[in-house]
Amino acid sequence: MMRVYLTSLARASAVRIGKSTRFAPEVGPGPVLGILRRPPTWAASLISGHVLGLMPKHKELDAVQGGELTFDGYCSVLRRRWARSLASGLYAPGALRVAVTSTQHLAQHHPDGAFWDGQWWEGRDPVVDGSTLCCACKDAPACHRSVAAEVLASAGWEVILDGEPVAFRGHSDHNGSAGDATGGSGRE
Ligand SMILES: [Zn+2]
Repeated sequence: MMRVYLTSLARASAVRIGKSTRFAPEVGPGPVLGILRRPPTWAASLISGHVLGLMPKHKELDAVQGGELTFDGYCSVLRRRWARSLASGLYAPGALRVAVTSTQHLAQHHPDGAFWDGQWWEGRDPVVDGSTLCCACKDAPACHRSVAAEVLASAGWEVILDGEPVAFRGHSDHNGSAGDATGGSGRE
């Protein structure tokens, strides 16, 4: 079974630069990848690519950060959108893809001024076993990576979220709840 880790950029950085072993169970041996829409520039050398299929859109981030959307509402929006890709098999081990910033983007923008949607991405390599997917948020219950973890577990990955295994939840979700398991338990 292929394993994927989800955690914060700060923890991945602490482990990767050898400053801390405290977060070692939270970070895999493979590449560190971003699933955040607005990566901080300090993380540029840490992140070797982005998993576009698990990134929120700018307008979704604006809505939740501006208070027009609650965090639970934001998670629901992501779950609904990602359910289609999940059903199409796009999140399965071997199918999930990683992208890098395009040379066109780098030629036209300062990295700080990047628009991280649309055409500014290229490359479609598979996410490999042992990769760590990161967001900037400190804790998973307040971060969309908790939703990403659910989706990846459903897609057949062995998932480690902030150091804890995420239970596989299958496709026959008989209680119909999208907020149990690792998802929104701390927020509801
Ligand atoms: Zn986050």
